[in-house]
Amino acid sequence: MLIDLKPLFCGECESIDISCQLDFSDETLLSGKPLQKPVTVKGFIKRRAQVVFFDASATVTVTAPCDRCCTVCDEVLDLNLSQVIVKRLENEDDDDTYVLAPDMKVDLYNLVFGETVMNLPSLHLCKEDCKGLCPTCGVNLNTQNCNCNNN
Ligand SMILES: [Zn+2]
Ligand SMILES: [Zn+2]
Repeated sequence: MLIDLKPLFCGECESIDISCQLDFSDETLLSGKPLQKPVTVKGFIKRRAQVVFFDASATVTVTAPCDRCCTVCDEVLDLNLSQVIVKRLENEDDDDTYVLAPDMKVDLYNLVFGETVMNLPSLHLCKEDCKGLCPTCGVNLNTQNCNCNNN
């Protein structure tokens, strides 16, 4: 989804509203396709003085098996997307700091997907205190007890 930033860079307008849904359901991550639910993005791209910046929030639902008990569960990530968009880099070392838009267009899909990948939790849990599976007999210790001695 390409957004044309020319009106911003050329001073024809001050702000472009962003309100859309992105579909990441075909993206493979965590050895599955965990982004089955639509991703909502809301915010704006604004120009202040000579600086064009993106300021939005994205709500991403990660659907994947819990890392401890393997029960499939949802985790909602609220991403804060706050980035400065530039036409060219003054300094090549800045390419992590800025979003580069040499043709004055920015691809919202890539931008939000990149942030999603960076912010994926290292541990996906059904609940914070998930007890996981018994390493000996394999029962789900959240719903069942067992008599194994796992010390
Ligand atoms: Zn769990
Ligand atoms: Zn057991």
